[in-house]
Amino acid sequence: MAARRLSSLLSRSLSLPPVYASLGDHSLLEARQLVSEKTFPTLDPRTGEVIAHVAEGDAEDINCAVSAARKAFDEGPWLKMTAYERSRIILRFADLLEKHIDEIAALETWDNGKPYEQAAKIKLPIIVRIFHYYAGWADKLHGLTVPADGPYHVQTLHEPIGVAGQIIPWNFPLAMFAWKVGPALACGNTVVLKSAEQTPLTALYAAKLFHEAGLPPGVLNIVSGYGPTAGAALASHMDVDKLAFTGSTDTGKIVLELVARSNLKPVTLELGGKSPFIVCEDADIGTAVELAHFALFFNQGQCCCAGSRTYVQERVYNGFIEKAKARAMKRIVGDPFKKGVEQGPQIDSEQFEKVLSYVRSGIESNATLECGGGQLGSKGFFIQPSFFSNVQDDMLIAKDEIFGPVQSILKFKDIDEVIKRANTTRYGLAAGVFTSNLDTANTLTRALKAGTVWVNCFDVFDAAIPFGGYKMSGIGREKGIYSLHNYLQVKAVVTPLKEPAWL
Ligand code: NAD
Repeated sequence: MAARRLSSLLSRSLSLPPVYASLGDHSLLEARQLVSEKTFPTLDPRTGEVIAHVAEGDAEDINCAVSAARKAFDEGPWLKMTAYERSRIILRFADLLEKHIDEIAALETWDNGKPYEQAAKIKLPIIVRIFHYYAGWADKLHGLTVPADGPYHVQTLHEPIGVAGQIIPWNFPLAMFAWKVGPALACGNTVVLKSAEQTPLTALYAAKLFHEAGLPPGVLNIVSGYGPTAGAALASHMDVDKLAFTGSTDTGKIVLELVARSNLKPVTLELGGKSPFIVCEDADIGTAVELAHFALFFNQGQCCCAGSRTYVQERVYNGFIEKAKARAMKRIVGDPFKKGVEQGPQIDSEQFEKVLSYVRSGIESNATLECGGGQLGSKGFFIQPSFFSNVQDDMLIAKDEIFGPVQSILKFKDIDEVIKRANTTRYGLAAGVFTSNLDTANTLTRALKAGTVWVNCFDVFDAAIPFGGYKMSGIGREKGIYSLHNYLQVKAVVTPLKEPAWL
C-alpha cells in the first residue's frame, strides 16, 4: 500500500476521540470522561511512543456499564426485537467492518505490532466471517419438545443469560472481541467488555461501528482499563450473569476465585498453552518445516496455541534442524507496516524482557541456541527469530509458555514415547501431527490431550470450528455452536395435559 494512503488511514483512525467509551444512553460518538477521570497511554510497540490517551475505567465505571447493560437487557428494545432484527444488526456491523477493513487493520497493527498484511488479509476477513456466522444463528436458536413419563407437555426454552461480562487479552484484540461479542449478541444478551490495557483501540472502533449498525444504547459497553481494577470489578460484579475470560492461566485462577466469592456466575476460560508439534519420520519434511515455523513464529510467537514444543523423530532430526534453522534465519523482521514483513515487535517492554529471559534460561540449561537470541535494532520491542535445538522436557523453555519468537526442537524415538512426553504438561490447548501414515495420525489424534489437533496443517481457524482447552488451558469452548451454549440458559416448562399424551 502506498505510504500516503496508509498515513491518511492512520490519521483517520486517530480521529477517534482520546477518551471514548460506550456507556448506557450516552452517544457512542461522544468523547466522554469516565467516572474515574483518569486516562492511560497506549503505546506503539515499534517505538514505545504514545499513540493516544484512553479513558481508564475502574470499578465505578464498571458499575455504570453493568447498570447500562442491565437496563438494556431488562427494558429493551434489544430483547423486544425479533431475533431476525437482531441478526440484521449484527450483519450490518459485519458489513461495516468489511468496509473499514483497511483502517481497522492499520489500527490493530499500530496498537499491537502485528504485520499489517496479516491483519488485513488473514485475520480481518476471518473476523468478519465470525459475525456473519453468529448473525446466521440468531434466528435459529430454539428449544425442544421433550417426551415425558406422564400427561405433561414439556418444552425447553433457550433464553439469553442476561448481562455477559467479557475480558480479553492483547495478542489478537479484534479476534478475541469477535469470539466473545458475536455469540453473546446473537443469543440476545447484553455485554460489558473490558479490553486489554495494551490494546484498547480496535474494540472502541468496533463499538462505534456497532452504533452505526443500529445497536441500541447499553447493549454493548466497552470499558478500557487495567485488570486488577476494571477486570476484577467485572469478574466479581453481582449483577453480571456470565463471565467469559481469555488470558493467562494465572489470571484465570484469580478470575475464578473472584467469581466463587461473588455470585457464582457461569464462567468460560480460554487460557495458556504449550502445544506439541509432532513430526514423524514419514512426514513430508519440507511442509513440516514450513508449518512448524509458522506454528511458532506467527503473531511474533504470541499465540496461545503456538507450536512451542517441536518434537522431531530421531531419523529425520538432523535434516529438520538444518532446514528449520535456515527458515528462521530467513524470517523478515521489521516495521509491520512494510510490505513483506513477517514479524513485527513484541507487544511491550514487559513481554520483551520476559522472552529474552527465557532465551537466557535456555542457554544456561545447555540447549543449543542455533540462531537469534537478542534484540533487533535499538528502538521498540523487536526480537530476533530464535531457535534452540537439543531441548529437553525438563528445561523451562520446554515447560513454560514463552509467548515469543523462540522455537524449541526436541528429539523423540517412537510414537508411544512422544505421546507420553507431549501430554506431560499442565496445558492442553492444541497439538500438531505430521505424518503420512493414517494409522499413526489416528493413534496420535486420539491419544493427545488437547482441545484441537491439527493433522498435516496448523492454525486452521474457522468460525464453525470450536476452540478451547483441556487441563489448565481452560474451561469450555468458543466458536462454532459450542459458544452459543455459553450464552444461553435452558428453561424446562412443564404443563399438564387434559388427555394422556400419545406422542
Ligand atoms: P493476562 O492474563 O495478563 O490478561 C488478560 C486480561 O485479563 C487483560 O484484559 C487483563 O487486563 C485482565 N486481567 C489481569 N488481571 C486481572 C484480574 N486480577 N482480574 C480480572 N482481569 C484481569 O494475559 P495477557 O498477557 O493479556 O494474554 C496472554 C495470555 O492469554 C497467554 O497466556 C495466552 O496463552 C492467553 N490466550 C489464550 C487464548 C485462548 O483462546 N486459549 C487466546 C489468546 C490468549
